[in-house]
Amino acid sequence: MNDSSNICLSCGFCCDGTVIGFVKLGREELPAIRKLMDIEEEHDNGFFLQPCNNFCDGCNIYSKRPKQCASFKCGLLKSVEQKELEFNSAIEIIDEVKQKKSSIEKKLASQQFELKSQSFYFKMVELKKLLQKNKSVSSLTQNHLELISDLEQLDSLLSKKFDVSLF
Ligand code: SF4
Ligand code: SF4
Repeated sequence: MNDSSNICLSCGFCCDGTVIGFVKLGREELPAIRKLMDIEEEHDNGFFLQPCNNFCDGCNIYSKRPKQCASFKCGLLKSVEQKELEFNSAIEIIDEVKQKKSSIEKKLASQQFELKSQSFYFKMVELKKLLQKNKSVSSLTQNHLELISDLEQLDSLLSKKFDVSLF
């Protein structure tokens, strides 16, 4: 196992719904993937929502995983593969994201937000819309402002280091 695959095992953000909200499936792979997991289908297209049910300390269907899963490489993974970033530095960045995510989840748990999405990714999209709505009626509390700051920091970190964005 090389460094880059270790990075993904230490991370899992694209399988647990942190940086991706859903995985698109090609028409030709629907029959095979349908046998492995529950998927949504619409006019010959398919997808499934994150967090993925096959994610448990790695991918349970790794050798048969969908094409989008096999081809996706975030900026952090590319940097490690291209030896622009040391393995340990990548792990520190992953830990930083985990801390910021945990801080946001704790604040959400202590406040009265009704977020319907399952994945962290889509929860953040919902949250941003809610906070923007509150902003427009000037009803932001100190807790809201702290959440906005956390969200902006996390989005900036993901954009700079992973080349993905929450919004
Ligand atoms: S977000 Fe990047 S480093 Fe993390 S599991 Fe996905 S591809 Fe690997
Ligand atoms: S199928 Fe495997 S690689 Fe794809 S999202 Fe699920 S756990 Fe991750």
